[in-house]
Amino acid sequence: MTIKLPVVEEPASSLRSDGSRNYVHPADVKGRFTRLRYTIFTVLIAIYVLLPFIKIGGHPAVFLDIVNRRFYLFGAVFNAQDFWLVFFLLSGVGLALLIVTAVKGRLWCGYACPHTVFLEGVFRRIERLIEGPRAQRMRRNAAGLSFDKVWRKLLKHAVYIVLALLLSHVFVSYFVSLPSLLEMVQSSPAEHPTAFTWVVVMSAILYFNFSWFREQLCLIICPYGRLQSAMTDRDTMVIGYDFNRGEPRGKASDPSNGDCVDCKRCVVVCPTGIDIRNGLQMECIGCAACVDACDEIMTKVGRPEGLVRYDSLNGLEGKPKHFGRPRLFFYGGIAALWLLGATLAFSQSSAFEANVLRLEGAPFMVVDGKVRNSLRVHLVNKTGDEQTFIIEPESESGIEYIIPQKRIELESLGSTYLPILAILPEDQMSPGLELKLSISMEGRDDRKASRVVGAPFVGPSR
Ligand code: SF4
Ligand code: SF4
Repeated sequence: MTIKLPVVEEPASSLRSDGSRNYVHPADVKGRFTRLRYTIFTVLIAIYVLLPFIKIGGHPAVFLDIVNRRFYLFGAVFNAQDFWLVFFLLSGVGLALLIVTAVKGRLWCGYACPHTVFLEGVFRRIERLIEGPRAQRMRRNAAGLSFDKVWRKLLKHAVYIVLALLLSHVFVSYFVSLPSLLEMVQSSPAEHPTAFTWVVVMSAILYFNFSWFREQLCLIICPYGRLQSAMTDRDTMVIGYDFNRGEPRGKASDPSNGDCVDCKRCVVVCPTGIDIRNGLQMECIGCAACVDACDEIMTKVGRPEGLVRYDSLNGLEGKPKHFGRPRLFFYGGIAALWLLGATLAFSQSSAFEANVLRLEGAPFMVVDGKVRNSLRVHLVNKTGDEQTFIIEPESESGIEYIIPQKRIELESLGSTYLPILAILPEDQMSPGLELKLSISMEGRDDRKASRVVGAPFVGPSR
Protein backbone atom coordinates (compact mmCIF):
# COMPACT_ATOMS: atom_id res chain seq x y z
CA MET A 1 0.00 0.00 0.00
CA THR A 2 1.34 3.43 -0.89
CA ILE A 3 0.83 5.96 1.85
CA LYS A 4 0.26 9.55 0.87
CA LEU A 5 1.74 12.03 3.28
CA PRO A 6 0.04 15.40 3.72
CA VAL A 7 1.58 18.17 1.65
CA VAL A 8 3.57 20.41 4.01
CA GLU A 9 4.10 23.92 2.67
CA GLU A 10 6.70 24.97 5.23
CA PRO A 11 8.17 21.87 6.89
CA ALA A 12 8.84 22.11 10.62
CA SER A 13 12.36 23.37 11.02
CA SER A 14 14.46 25.85 12.98
CA LEU A 15 15.00 27.71 9.70
CA ARG A 16 12.21 29.14 7.59
CA SER A 17 12.34 28.78 3.81
CA ASP A 18 13.39 32.45 3.53
CA GLY A 19 16.44 31.62 5.70
CA SER A 20 15.27 33.43 8.82
CA ARG A 21 15.51 31.72 12.20
CA ASN A 22 12.49 29.99 13.57
CA TYR A 23 13.44 30.08 17.25
CA VAL A 24 12.73 26.70 18.83
CA HIS A 25 10.98 26.53 22.21
CA PRO A 26 10.85 22.82 22.99
CA ALA A 27 8.05 21.75 25.30
CA ASP A 28 8.75 19.75 28.44
CA VAL A 29 8.54 16.02 28.10
CA LYS A 30 8.57 13.11 30.51
CA GLY A 31 9.31 9.48 29.88
CA ARG A 32 11.86 6.68 30.18
CA PHE A 33 14.31 8.04 27.63
CA THR A 34 14.15 11.54 29.08
CA ARG A 35 14.86 10.11 32.54
CA LEU A 36 17.77 8.09 31.17
CA ARG A 37 19.19 11.12 29.38
CA TYR A 38 19.04 13.35 32.43
CA THR A 39 20.74 10.64 34.49
CA ILE A 40 23.55 10.39 31.92
CA PHE A 41 23.81 14.19 31.70
CA THR A 42 24.21 14.41 35.49
CA VAL A 43 26.95 11.76 35.52
CA LEU A 44 28.83 13.39 32.62
CA ILE A 45 28.60 16.89 34.10
CA ALA A 46 29.82 15.53 37.46
CA ILE A 47 32.78 13.87 35.72
CA TYR A 48 33.64 17.10 33.87
CA VAL A 49 33.51 19.25 36.99
CA LEU A 50 35.12 16.78 39.42
CA LEU A 51 37.97 15.42 37.27
CA PRO A 52 40.32 18.35 38.03
CA PHE A 53 39.85 17.60 41.76
CA ILE A 54 40.68 13.90 41.43
CA LYS A 55 44.29 12.82 41.77
CA ILE A 56 45.80 9.57 40.56
CA GLY A 57 49.37 8.75 41.57
CA GLY A 58 49.78 12.24 43.07
CA HIS A 59 48.85 14.00 39.82
CA PRO A 60 45.52 15.34 38.50
CA ALA A 61 43.54 12.61 36.73
CA VAL A 62 43.58 14.75 33.57
CA PHE A 63 46.14 17.51 33.25
CA LEU A 64 47.28 18.67 29.82
CA ASP A 65 50.24 20.86 30.75
CA ILE A 66 50.91 22.27 27.27
CA VAL A 67 53.35 24.93 28.49
CA ASN A 68 55.69 22.33 30.01
CA ARG A 69 54.69 19.66 27.52
CA ARG A 70 53.56 17.19 30.17
CA PHE A 71 50.33 15.28 29.85
CA TYR A 72 48.73 13.31 32.68
CA LEU A 73 45.91 10.97 31.73
CA PHE A 74 44.39 8.76 34.42
CA GLY A 75 47.71 7.81 36.00
CA ALA A 76 49.68 7.60 32.74
CA VAL A 77 52.23 10.32 32.03
CA PHE A 78 53.25 11.46 28.56
CA ASN A 79 55.80 13.99 27.43
CA ALA A 80 56.15 15.72 24.05
CA GLN A 81 58.01 12.73 22.55
CA ASP A 82 55.06 10.49 23.40
CA PHE A 83 52.57 12.77 21.78
CA TRP A 84 52.35 10.52 18.73
CA LEU A 85 50.51 8.04 21.00
CA VAL A 86 47.69 10.59 21.11
CA PHE A 87 47.05 9.58 17.50
CA PHE A 88 45.91 6.18 18.78
CA LEU A 89 43.71 7.74 21.45
CA LEU A 90 42.02 10.15 19.03
CA SER A 91 41.68 7.63 16.20
CA GLY A 92 40.30 5.11 18.73
CA VAL A 93 37.61 7.58 19.80
CA GLY A 94 36.81 8.34 16.13
CA LEU A 95 36.61 4.66 15.28
CA ALA A 96 34.39 3.87 18.27
CA LEU A 97 32.08 6.70 17.20
CA LEU A 98 31.99 5.31 13.65
CA ILE A 99 31.04 1.82 14.81
CA VAL A 100 28.48 3.03 17.37
CA THR A 101 26.93 5.28 14.70
CA ALA A 102 26.72 2.44 12.18
CA VAL A 103 24.95 0.21 14.70
CA LYS A 104 23.10 2.61 17.01
CA GLY A 105 22.79 5.84 15.02
CA ARG A 106 23.19 9.19 16.73
CA LEU A 107 23.30 7.99 20.33
CA TRP A 108 26.32 10.23 20.86
CA CYS A 109 24.40 13.38 19.81
CA GLY A 110 21.38 12.66 21.95
CA TYR A 111 23.07 11.38 25.09
CA ALA A 112 26.73 12.33 25.36
CA CYS A 113 27.75 15.24 23.11
CA PRO A 114 28.92 18.07 25.43
CA HIS A 115 26.71 20.52 23.53
CA THR A 116 23.58 18.44 24.21
CA VAL A 117 24.66 17.59 27.75
CA PHE A 118 25.05 21.22 28.82
CA LEU A 119 22.23 22.67 26.69
CA GLU A 120 19.59 20.15 27.77
CA GLY A 121 21.05 19.24 31.15
CA VAL A 122 21.76 22.76 32.40
CA PHE A 123 20.84 25.79 30.30
CA ARG A 124 17.35 24.80 29.11
CA ARG A 125 16.45 23.63 32.60
CA ILE A 126 17.36 27.03 33.97
CA GLU A 127 15.33 28.67 31.24
CA ARG A 128 12.30 26.57 32.17
CA LEU A 129 12.80 27.35 35.83
CA ILE A 130 12.95 31.11 35.28
CA GLU A 131 10.72 31.64 32.26
CA GLY A 132 8.24 28.80 32.69
CA PRO A 133 7.00 26.18 30.24
CA ARG A 134 6.97 26.55 26.45
CA ALA A 135 3.55 28.24 26.08
CA GLN A 136 4.37 30.81 28.76
CA ARG A 137 7.79 31.52 27.26
CA MET A 138 6.36 32.00 23.79
CA ARG A 139 3.55 34.24 25.05
CA ARG A 140 5.96 36.41 27.01
CA ASN A 141 8.40 36.65 24.11
CA ALA A 142 5.66 37.76 21.72
CA ALA A 143 4.33 40.37 24.19
CA GLY A 144 5.78 43.84 24.65
CA LEU A 145 8.21 44.92 27.35
CA SER A 146 7.00 44.41 30.89
CA PHE A 147 8.61 44.26 34.33
CA ASP A 148 7.89 40.53 34.47
CA LYS A 149 9.61 39.95 31.12
CA VAL A 150 12.63 42.13 31.90
CA TRP A 151 13.49 40.66 35.29
CA ARG A 152 13.14 37.09 34.07
CA LYS A 153 15.32 37.73 31.03
CA LEU A 154 17.92 39.60 33.08
CA LEU A 155 18.05 36.87 35.71
CA LYS A 156 18.31 34.12 33.09
CA HIS A 157 21.14 35.80 31.23
CA ALA A 158 22.97 36.65 34.47
CA VAL A 159 22.83 32.98 35.49
CA TYR A 160 23.97 31.97 31.99
CA ILE A 161 26.97 34.30 32.20
CA VAL A 162 27.97 32.97 35.63
CA LEU A 163 27.63 29.39 34.37
CA ALA A 164 29.64 30.14 31.22
CA LEU A 165 32.39 31.60 33.40
CA LEU A 166 32.36 28.59 35.72
CA LEU A 167 32.48 26.08 32.85
CA SER A 168 35.32 27.89 31.12
CA HIS A 169 37.29 28.04 34.39
CA VAL A 170 36.85 24.29 34.77
CA PHE A 171 38.01 23.86 31.18
CA VAL A 172 41.11 25.98 31.71
CA SER A 173 41.94 24.02 34.89
CA TYR A 174 42.53 20.97 32.67
CA PHE A 175 45.46 22.88 31.14
CA VAL A 176 46.88 24.77 34.11
CA SER A 177 45.87 22.46 37.04
CA LEU A 178 43.42 23.36 39.76
CA PRO A 179 45.91 24.85 42.28
CA SER A 180 47.34 27.15 39.57
CA LEU A 181 43.84 28.18 38.52
CA LEU A 182 42.96 29.07 42.11
CA GLU A 183 46.13 31.16 42.35
CA MET A 184 45.31 32.87 39.06
CA VAL A 185 41.78 33.85 40.03
CA GLN A 186 43.18 35.55 43.13
CA SER A 187 45.76 37.57 41.19
CA SER A 188 45.64 40.21 38.49
CA PRO A 189 44.77 39.07 34.92
CA ALA A 190 47.93 40.89 33.79
CA GLU A 191 50.00 38.17 35.52
CA HIS A 192 48.48 35.40 33.40
CA PRO A 193 47.16 37.02 30.20
CA THR A 194 46.94 33.80 28.16
CA ALA A 195 44.76 31.94 30.65
CA PHE A 196 42.68 35.07 31.21
CA THR A 197 42.09 35.50 27.46
CA TRP A 198 41.08 31.84 27.15
CA VAL A 199 38.56 32.18 29.95
CA VAL A 200 37.06 35.37 28.52
CA VAL A 201 36.86 34.08 24.93
CA MET A 202 35.53 30.70 25.96
CA SER A 203 32.95 32.19 28.32
CA ALA A 204 31.74 34.46 25.52
CA ILE A 205 31.46 31.51 23.12
CA LEU A 206 29.63 29.36 25.68
CA TYR A 207 27.23 32.16 26.55
CA PHE A 208 26.52 32.90 22.88
CA ASN A 209 26.04 29.23 22.08
CA PHE A 210 23.82 28.24 24.98
CA SER A 211 21.76 31.41 25.18
CA TRP A 212 21.07 31.95 21.48
CA PHE A 213 22.84 29.77 18.91
CA ARG A 214 21.74 26.45 20.43
CA GLU A 215 20.50 23.85 17.90
CA GLN A 216 22.07 25.87 15.07
CA LEU A 217 25.44 24.49 16.16
CA CYS A 218 24.24 20.95 15.36
CA LEU A 219 22.63 22.05 12.11
CA ILE A 220 25.21 24.45 10.70
CA ILE A 221 28.59 23.79 12.29
CA CYS A 222 28.83 20.18 13.49
CA PRO A 223 30.10 17.93 10.66
CA TYR A 224 29.01 14.73 12.38
CA GLY A 225 25.32 15.11 11.46
CA ARG A 226 26.22 15.71 7.86
CA LEU A 227 28.42 12.61 7.75
CA GLN A 228 25.62 10.56 9.26
CA SER A 229 24.24 9.40 5.91
CA ALA A 230 27.68 8.06 4.96
CA MET A 231 28.01 6.12 8.24
CA THR A 232 24.54 4.63 8.49
CA ASP A 233 22.39 2.34 6.38
CA ARG A 234 18.87 0.95 6.40
CA ASP A 235 19.69 -1.33 9.33
CA THR A 236 21.15 1.34 11.60
CA MET A 237 19.05 2.15 14.63
CA VAL A 238 17.40 5.54 14.22
CA ILE A 239 14.44 7.31 15.69
CA GLY A 240 11.59 7.06 13.23
CA TYR A 241 7.89 7.29 12.71
CA ASP A 242 5.95 4.19 11.70
CA PHE A 243 4.22 5.48 8.56
CA ASN A 244 2.31 2.23 7.99
CA ARG A 245 0.81 2.38 11.44
CA GLY A 246 0.37 6.13 11.77
CA GLU A 247 -1.09 7.18 8.42
CA PRO A 248 -3.50 8.50 7.48
CA ARG A 249 -3.16 10.76 10.47
CA GLY A 250 -6.22 12.32 12.00
CA LYS A 251 -8.75 12.19 14.81
CA ALA A 252 -8.73 9.10 17.00
CA SER A 253 -12.52 8.95 16.77
CA ASP A 254 -12.38 8.24 13.00
CA PRO A 255 -11.76 4.49 12.54
CA SER A 256 -10.43 5.04 9.00
CA ASN A 257 -7.45 6.97 10.40
CA GLY A 258 -4.14 5.49 11.44
CA ASP A 259 -2.71 5.70 14.95
CA CYS A 260 -1.27 9.23 14.61
CA VAL A 261 -3.81 11.63 16.06
CA ASP A 262 -1.88 14.58 14.60
CA CYS A 263 -1.49 16.16 18.02
CA LYS A 264 1.99 17.47 17.07
CA ARG A 265 3.42 16.70 20.52
CA CYS A 266 6.39 15.05 18.79
CA VAL A 267 7.01 18.34 16.96
CA VAL A 268 6.72 20.74 19.88
CA VAL A 269 9.11 18.75 22.09
CA CYS A 270 11.77 18.51 19.37
CA PRO A 271 14.85 20.58 20.30
CA THR A 272 15.74 21.05 16.64
CA GLY A 273 12.20 21.96 15.65
CA ILE A 274 11.59 19.20 13.12
CA ASP A 275 8.69 16.88 12.48
CA ILE A 276 9.90 13.28 12.69
CA ARG A 277 6.86 12.22 10.66
CA ASN A 278 8.56 13.72 7.59
CA GLY A 279 11.11 10.88 7.73
CA LEU A 280 14.73 10.63 8.82
CA GLN A 281 16.31 14.08 8.72
CA MET A 282 19.82 15.36 9.19
CA GLU A 283 18.50 17.70 11.91
CA CYS A 284 17.42 14.78 14.11
CA ILE A 285 19.96 14.50 16.94
CA GLY A 286 18.42 11.28 18.25
CA CYS A 287 17.33 12.74 21.57
CA ALA A 288 14.21 10.53 21.80
CA ALA A 289 12.08 13.38 23.16
CA CYS A 290 9.55 12.64 20.39
CA VAL A 291 9.49 8.95 21.40
CA ASP A 292 8.56 9.82 24.99
CA ALA A 293 6.07 12.44 23.80
CA CYS A 294 4.30 10.10 21.40
CA ASP A 295 4.29 7.19 23.86
CA GLU A 296 2.49 9.45 26.33
CA ILE A 297 -0.14 10.32 23.70
CA MET A 298 -0.55 6.68 22.64
CA THR A 299 -1.13 5.69 26.27
CA LYS A 300 -3.76 8.44 26.59
CA VAL A 301 -5.65 7.34 23.46
CA GLY A 302 -5.36 3.68 24.43
CA ARG A 303 -3.07 2.57 21.60
CA PRO A 304 0.21 0.69 21.82
CA GLU A 305 3.38 2.70 22.37
CA GLY A 306 6.08 2.82 19.71
CA LEU A 307 4.44 4.80 16.89
CA VAL A 308 7.62 6.87 17.07
CA ARG A 309 10.40 4.59 18.24
CA TYR A 310 13.98 3.41 18.05
CA ASP A 311 14.13 1.12 15.03
CA SER A 312 15.94 0.74 11.74
CA LEU A 313 14.48 2.07 8.50
CA ASN A 314 13.92 -1.55 7.46
CA GLY A 315 12.21 -2.25 10.79
CA LEU A 316 9.95 0.80 10.47
CA GLU A 317 8.87 -0.37 7.02
CA GLY A 318 8.26 -3.91 8.24
CA LYS A 319 11.14 -5.30 6.18
CA PRO A 320 13.66 -7.90 7.43
CA LYS A 321 16.48 -6.51 9.57
CA HIS A 322 20.11 -7.54 9.21
CA PHE A 323 22.86 -7.22 11.78
CA GLY A 324 25.84 -8.63 9.90
CA ARG A 325 26.32 -6.10 7.13
CA PRO A 326 29.44 -5.57 4.95
CA ARG A 327 29.85 -2.10 6.50
CA LEU A 328 30.15 -3.58 9.99
CA PHE A 329 32.69 -6.20 8.87
CA PHE A 330 34.72 -3.43 7.24
CA TYR A 331 34.58 -1.24 10.36
CA GLY A 332 35.38 -4.31 12.51
CA GLY A 333 38.47 -4.99 10.35
CA ILE A 334 39.68 -1.42 10.79
CA ALA A 335 39.05 -1.70 14.54
CA ALA A 336 41.12 -4.93 14.71
CA LEU A 337 44.00 -3.19 12.90
CA TRP A 338 43.73 -0.22 15.25
CA LEU A 339 43.80 -2.53 18.27
CA LEU A 340 46.91 -4.26 16.94
CA GLY A 341 48.67 -0.96 16.22
CA ALA A 342 47.72 0.54 19.58
CA THR A 343 48.85 -2.57 21.49
CA LEU A 344 52.20 -2.56 19.70
CA ALA A 345 52.66 1.19 20.16
CA PHE A 346 51.87 1.20 23.87
CA SER A 347 53.92 -1.96 24.55
CA GLN A 348 56.93 -0.44 22.80
CA SER A 349 56.83 2.79 24.75
CA SER A 350 59.36 2.77 27.57
CA ALA A 351 59.43 4.36 31.02
CA PHE A 352 62.37 6.53 30.03
CA GLU A 353 64.04 7.98 26.98
CA ALA A 354 67.80 7.50 26.45
CA ASN A 355 69.83 8.53 23.42
CA VAL A 356 73.58 8.59 22.85
CA LEU A 357 74.68 11.86 21.25
CA ARG A 358 78.11 12.50 19.74
CA LEU A 359 79.82 15.84 20.34
CA GLU A 360 79.56 17.96 17.24
CA GLY A 361 82.76 18.41 15.21
CA ALA A 362 84.85 16.00 17.35
CA PRO A 363 83.87 12.40 16.60
CA PHE A 364 87.12 11.12 18.14
CA MET A 365 90.57 12.10 19.40
CA VAL A 366 93.79 10.12 19.56
CA VAL A 367 95.83 10.78 22.72
CA ASP A 368 98.92 8.75 23.66
CA GLY A 369 98.01 5.96 21.23
CA LYS A 370 94.46 5.70 22.55
CA VAL A 371 91.29 6.58 20.63
CA ARG A 372 88.81 8.62 22.61
CA ASN A 373 85.09 9.05 21.78
CA SER A 374 83.38 11.78 23.78
CA LEU A 375 79.63 11.35 23.97
CA ARG A 376 76.60 12.49 25.90
CA VAL A 377 73.62 10.43 26.99
CA HIS A 378 70.35 12.31 26.91
CA LEU A 379 68.14 10.81 29.62
CA VAL A 380 64.43 11.61 30.15
CA ASN A 381 62.36 10.23 33.01
CA LYS A 382 58.94 9.61 31.44
CA THR A 383 57.22 8.41 34.60
CA GLY A 384 55.08 10.38 36.99
CA ASP A 385 57.54 9.95 39.90
CA GLU A 386 61.15 10.73 40.69
CA GLN A 387 63.40 7.86 39.57
CA THR A 388 67.02 6.79 40.09
CA PHE A 389 68.84 5.61 36.96
CA ILE A 390 71.90 3.34 36.92
CA ILE A 391 74.29 3.60 33.96
CA GLU A 392 76.73 0.75 33.33
CA PRO A 393 79.00 -0.19 30.43
CA GLU A 394 77.74 -3.16 28.48
CA SER A 395 80.34 -3.67 25.75
CA GLU A 396 82.83 -6.55 25.95
CA SER A 397 85.00 -5.28 23.11
CA GLY A 398 87.77 -3.94 25.35
CA ILE A 399 86.45 -0.39 25.34
CA GLU A 400 87.16 1.39 28.59
CA TYR A 401 84.45 3.76 29.80
CA ILE A 402 84.70 6.79 32.01
CA ILE A 403 81.25 7.57 33.38
CA PRO A 404 81.46 10.44 35.88
CA GLN A 405 77.92 9.86 37.18
CA LYS A 406 76.78 6.24 37.25
CA ARG A 407 73.72 6.86 39.41
CA ILE A 408 71.47 9.80 38.79
CA GLU A 409 68.13 10.92 40.18
CA LEU A 410 65.62 12.56 37.88
CA GLU A 411 62.31 14.16 38.78
CA SER A 412 59.11 13.20 36.94
CA LEU A 413 59.54 14.07 33.24
CA GLY A 414 62.90 15.63 34.08
CA SER A 415 65.80 15.27 31.65
CA THR A 416 69.57 15.58 31.74
CA TYR A 417 72.72 15.14 29.62
CA LEU A 418 75.43 12.83 30.99
CA PRO A 419 79.00 13.02 29.60
CA ILE A 420 80.62 9.67 28.75
CA LEU A 421 84.16 9.00 27.60
CA ALA A 422 84.94 5.76 25.73
CA ILE A 423 88.63 4.83 25.24
CA LEU A 424 90.29 2.06 23.19
CA PRO A 425 93.98 1.53 22.31
CA GLU A 426 94.46 2.49 18.68
CA ASP A 427 95.96 -0.92 17.77
CA GLN A 428 92.71 -2.63 18.92
CA MET A 429 90.55 -0.63 16.53
CA SER A 430 88.55 -2.82 14.15
CA PRO A 431 85.56 -2.20 11.87
CA GLY A 432 82.08 -2.43 13.37
CA LEU A 433 83.06 -1.67 16.94
CA GLU A 434 80.21 -0.46 19.02
CA LEU A 435 80.02 1.10 22.45
CA LYS A 436 77.07 0.07 24.56
CA LEU A 437 75.59 1.28 27.81
CA SER A 438 73.00 -0.42 29.96
CA ILE A 439 70.57 1.99 31.60
CA SER A 440 68.09 0.79 34.20
CA MET A 441 65.73 2.24 36.75
CA GLU A 442 66.59 1.36 40.34
CA GLY A 443 64.00 -0.81 42.07
CA ARG A 444 62.26 -1.89 38.89
CA ASP A 445 62.88 -5.05 36.93
CA ASP A 446 60.15 -4.83 34.29
CA ARG A 447 60.92 -4.72 30.60
CA LYS A 448 60.08 -1.03 30.24
CA ALA A 449 62.54 -0.04 32.98
CA SER A 450 65.83 -1.05 31.38
CA ARG A 451 67.40 -0.84 27.99
CA VAL A 452 70.72 -0.86 26.21
CA VAL A 453 71.74 2.14 24.13
CA GLY A 454 74.73 2.33 21.86
CA ALA A 455 76.62 4.07 19.10
CA PRO A 456 79.46 3.09 16.73
CA PHE A 457 82.94 3.53 18.24
CA VAL A 458 84.81 5.60 15.69
CA GLY A 459 88.54 6.18 15.20
CA PRO A 460 91.21 6.54 12.52
CA SER A 461 90.77 4.00 9.72
CA ARG A 462 93.48 1.33 9.69
S1 SF4 B 1 13.05 14.27 15.79
FE1 SF4 B 1 12.80 13.35 17.82
S2 SF4 B 1 14.75 12.39 18.26
FE2 SF4 B 1 15.07 13.76 16.52
S3 SF4 B 1 15.81 15.65 17.47
FE3 SF4 B 1 13.58 15.83 17.25
S4 SF4 B 1 12.74 15.10 19.19
FE4 SF4 B 1 14.88 14.45 19.11
S1 SF4 C 1 3.07 12.65 18.98
FE1 SF4 C 1 2.50 10.75 17.96
S2 SF4 C 1 0.33 10.99 17.64
FE2 SF4 C 1 1.06 13.02 18.08
S3 SF4 C 1 1.53 13.88 16.07
FE3 SF4 C 1 3.43 12.95 16.80
S4 SF4 C 1 3.37 10.91 15.92
FE4 SF4 C 1 1.29 11.71 15.77
